[in-house]
Amino acid sequence: MNKIKKHRKKICPHCGRKLWLKEFYPLKKGGRSSWCHDCVLKYKREYYQKKLKVVDGTFMHRKLHRIVEHKGYSTRIFWNGNMLSIMQRHYHNTINRELAEMLGVSERSVTRKARELGLEKDKEFISSTSKKNLLLAHIKGKELGYPGCFTKGMKFKGNQYTGKIESE
Ligand SMILES: [Zn+2]
Repeated sequence: MNKIKKHRKKICPHCGRKLWLKEFYPLKKGGRSSWCHDCVLKYKREYYQKKLKVVDGTFMHRKLHRIVEHKGYSTRIFWNGNMLSIMQRHYHNTINRELAEMLGVSERSVTRKARELGLEKDKEFISSTSKKNLLLAHIKGKELGYPGCFTKGMKFKGNQYTGKIESE
């Protein structure tokens, strides 16, 4: 390629500085951008501020078809009173996957919100679920031909027995 041109300097038409070629972004098509890296970054930042900045507050998200809450740089799901009361009433004895389905949000959102609200699962609920999982694991183990190789805390993924104890 153009190895000879590597150490040349070029003038940026925007800021007028004479800079090494490496200060200019290489383009996909080949060659380099006419503006220097600093000018391009500055332009992009200003463009984002002017055109794309979302005003803080709650609004209907066009793609998600749901109400979201925007604050600073992050957009989050807006939790209405009904959703919050579902969390308050059912979090302690419902698995997160089911809650996520009920609320139409991701499991991660459920976990995050529970932490925010200081909600915890019932100890009894956790132990009964883990017993159920162990039972399921034994059934799965028989199916796969490893009877009795599962003990408490072990997990399997799909049809693959991972053989690892998940530690928190
Ligand atoms: Zn420049």
